[in-house]
Amino acid sequence: MTVTAKTKRNIFLVWLLLVPAGLWFTYQTYPPNFSGQWLDIAAFLILTFVVAFMPMVINNTPIFLIQWVSLATFLTFGIFVEMVFAQAAVIVLLLRLRLQKDQLFRIPLNLIMFFLVSLVSGVVYYALGGQTTPTIVNNLHSLSLAAVYAVVNYFLNQVIISFYLYYIYKSKGSYFGKDFIVETVTTFITLPLGFVLYMFYNQQGLLALLIVAIPFASLSMIFKLYYASENINIYLQKAAEIGHQMAEKLEVDGVIDLFIQKLSEMLPVDYAYIFDVANEEDLKLVRRIQGGDTELPLNIPIIKKNQGISGHVWSKGKAQLYSTGMQWKRYSIGYIPGDAESILAVPIQRNKKIIGVVMLASKRKRAYEKFQLVIVDILCSYFAVAMENAKHYELTKKQSERCALTKLYNYRYFKKLLTEEFDKIFHFEQKVLSLIILDIDHFKAVNDTYGHQSGNEILCELAARLTNIVGSRGTVARYGGEEFVVLLPEVDKEETYQLAEMIRQSIANWPFTLMQSLELTQQQIKITASIGIATAPEDAEDALALVRHADRALYVGAKRAGRNKVAEYIK
Ligand code: GH3
Ligand code: MG
Ligand code: MG
Repeated sequence: MTVTAKTKRNIFLVWLLLVPAGLWFTYQTYPPNFSGQWLDIAAFLILTFVVAFMPMVINNTPIFLIQWVSLATFLTFGIFVEMVFAQAAVIVLLLRLRLQKDQLFRIPLNLIMFFLVSLVSGVVYYALGGQTTPTIVNNLHSLSLAAVYAVVNYFLNQVIISFYLYYIYKSKGSYFGKDFIVETVTTFITLPLGFVLYMFYNQQGLLALLIVAIPFASLSMIFKLYYASENINIYLQKAAEIGHQMAEKLEVDGVIDLFIQKLSEMLPVDYAYIFDVANEEDLKLVRRIQGGDTELPLNIPIIKKNQGISGHVWSKGKAQLYSTGMQWKRYSIGYIPGDAESILAVPIQRNKKIIGVVMLASKRKRAYEKFQLVIVDILCSYFAVAMENAKHYELTKKQSERCALTKLYNYRYFKKLLTEEFDKIFHFEQKVLSLIILDIDHFKAVNDTYGHQSGNEILCELAARLTNIVGSRGTVARYGGEEFVVLLPEVDKEETYQLAEMIRQSIANWPFTLMQSLELTQQQIKITASIGIATAPEDAEDALALVRHADRALYVGAKRAGRNKVAEYIK
């Protein structure tokens, strides 16, 4: 719902042309029945301001219940005074709502509406023979005309609002929803208060205003408190729900994504940042939402302790809430775009230790309230627990699928991957799948000569070499003891043979370095390996056969043929 600058200018122009002249016209046509009751008129104006200043907020929508005061004002002083008061009330209300600069057009927009509503309902009332004098108190006919006035007043108001929504805000949604019903009901409940005020005022004078205004103001306050606590309840419920969702996420990335996304849905967020405490001094950005792009730039600067807003939040361990850019711009180190105003920054704590910082920003001033800071704080604790669990899960998972010595994938993982890749051949998602199996020659002798520890060093260095040579073409795993496998999706037999040959040569031609040999000096030793290869589907119809056949090639074609060889499976 953005309104263009041109429309805003036109709204102001219409106001300028219509309202001042209209007020003058009304004054000339319907001079106010006013004979110097300055005190009374001031009291009515004060009542108008009080009511305008306390809109009842129901379901997050402020409801402007001024109609009953307008009715009493109209019946007492006539159309012109009512019109002027209504204009004043609009200004008070909108100032109270603290409009942003780009929303200022709403002032003339509402002034126009209230002017038209006052004018039309007043003119209708007079045209039907209604009067504005104290004498109508006991006249039922006059009172029913006053009811007509009130109804015209209210519905014209609604019609103009829907016109505005349609033509100015270009809103497609239906306006006559739940809010409309709540507003209509509350307005008509308060209308009799207008009659009471009018009649009571005619009998008792100014005291009437006080007696009517006090319960109204109290009621408005009670509503406000009630809905404020209701609102907090809703936020707490949402927070609990997000907490559950985060707890269900197994992986660290999933938890962070969910956290930042839910935060920005729940609160008015234009920019969001999550920092991770990387070490004693540095804060690292791990996720952000900034103008629709969630990608992190490649070289994001590290934030130091005490640096910028997040660095301070980290070092102080205290959450920060800023309402305007003025309050934080001098601390900022340029992470947040310049058009941001409100900021909410909260430390993420786990076991009394700060493990990160979350920072939310909005382009609006005063976008966040204190209680929202508490909600974010609660969410941060859920987040910290979920992160710990996810990190633990990832570590366990990694440990369960990796070999502790070489850090390569282990046999368990290899078997799972092999089945998955083979399934792709069955489902024609992949054409070929090749396997290299490698066994170090006379490794027992290496162990016997240099010690088991040296044997381990060779296994590690070999693992690193294999990973380097294979790169992204396939997956290297430790098959067992001194045997390794390389799984190569979409690599044909020819290419697999070349790769295997390259591996064989790189083992045979480059000695391995032993750091901790029995002689306690650095030592170079030469080893060789025998290799067997097989390719599916030509050599094997199922996953196990692929391994079996590659293994057969290794023993028959390479080991038995003298070792330090590559052999392919032959049927
Ligand atoms: P070849 O394969 O050429 O027939 O001879 P080999 O000596 O390599 O044969 P074998 O398979 O009988 O021996 C494998 C040896 O590898 C036995 C064992 O001592 C050693 N080995 C297996 N796992 C490890 C390990 O994790 N660390 C060390 N240091 N040695 C291992
Ligand atoms: Mg072996
Ligand atoms: Mg061996």
